[in-house]
Amino acid sequence: MEKYLEKRSNPKLLSIVIPCYNEEKVLPFLRNRLSDFLNSLSVKTEIILVNDGSKDNTIFQLVNWSIEDSSVQVISLSRNFGHQIAVTAGMDYASGDAIVIMDADLQDPPEVIIEMLERYREGYDVVYGQRITRTGETFFKKFTAWCFYRIMKVLVHKDLPLDTGDFRLISRRCANALNGLRENHRFLRGMNAWIGFPQIPVYYNRDPRVAGETKYPLKKMIGLAINAAISFSPIPLRFSLALGLIIAFVGFLVGIYALFRAFQYFILHSPIVYNPGWATIVTLICLIGGSILISIGILGEYIARIFEESKGRPLYVVEFAKGKNVQKKKLV
Ligand code: UDP
Ligand code: MG
Repeated sequence: MEKYLEKRSNPKLLSIVIPCYNEEKVLPFLRNRLSDFLNSLSVKTEIILVNDGSKDNTIFQLVNWSIEDSSVQVISLSRNFGHQIAVTAGMDYASGDAIVIMDADLQDPPEVIIEMLERYREGYDVVYGQRITRTGETFFKKFTAWCFYRIMKVLVHKDLPLDTGDFRLISRRCANALNGLRENHRFLRGMNAWIGFPQIPVYYNRDPRVAGETKYPLKKMIGLAINAAISFSPIPLRFSLALGLIIAFVGFLVGIYALFRAFQYFILHSPIVYNPGWATIVTLICLIGGSILISIGILGEYIARIFEESKGRPLYVVEFAKGKNVQKKKLV
């Protein structure tokens, strides 16, 4: 179905939110490339750099940049809260009519913003960057990412675009809606799909990281995947129900078979070897015990989330904010 789109002009102010975690090697490159690009752009911009509890020189570089460039705002979180929360903090503090979210490592080329703005003017509220290729990443990383996006589409939301990270432009009204969702376990792309609004991809080639190494090792990727699956969907719970049903059915069949054998041996006096069948018993105990523990484990994950939410804690704690735009906003 065609969406009704209202044409609009460029945003009066465009916020660019960049989470940074131990990015000291990357920042000089980012600063050069982004400053050059933004100077050539005819839209007023603010850059919101979120320091996500970096342990290296990152925060010093960010503060210096903000001192030398008044459009640069720095939010420094009190510790490492993780990428999704860092982006959320940046969005909370952004004042623009449109917000671009991008990585610090220049894997998301800033030049794509030009096309994103074109789409924004056409009336789209979310313009997400969809990767055609990913260069400079290992086969393993590409493969896990490929699986990740396909599984997430099933588990999270049917509108979740494939091969799409957090690189996107979001209109103010969409950002407001997104900022209203304050769940602790955040999967922003899924939340964005849930919100709706007219959305469209722009295609781009994902460059290699300019420097440093990925802050998303396999462990964090799996964490994000589990988070996304559990916070968005009851399917894992149904999985444990299905598992229970299958195991119960297998147990039922084995029970019938055992009765049949006993009947043959005791009633019909058939000359069969009637052994106690310890292997069957051990296998069944393992199967049943395993499936019960798996189901309790899945249930536990959901209960843990209810517990987290019931505490009603803020999503992040800000140590300090620098820059005139963000100092006006006292959020957390
Ligand atoms: N990042 C963050 N907090 C974290 C992990 C990552 O703010 O706990 C930032 C990181 O500095 C980068 C972005 O999130 O700007 C994406 O991370 P990265 O490029 O390492 O992920 P990849 O592109 O390899 O998936
Ligand atoms: Mg990256």
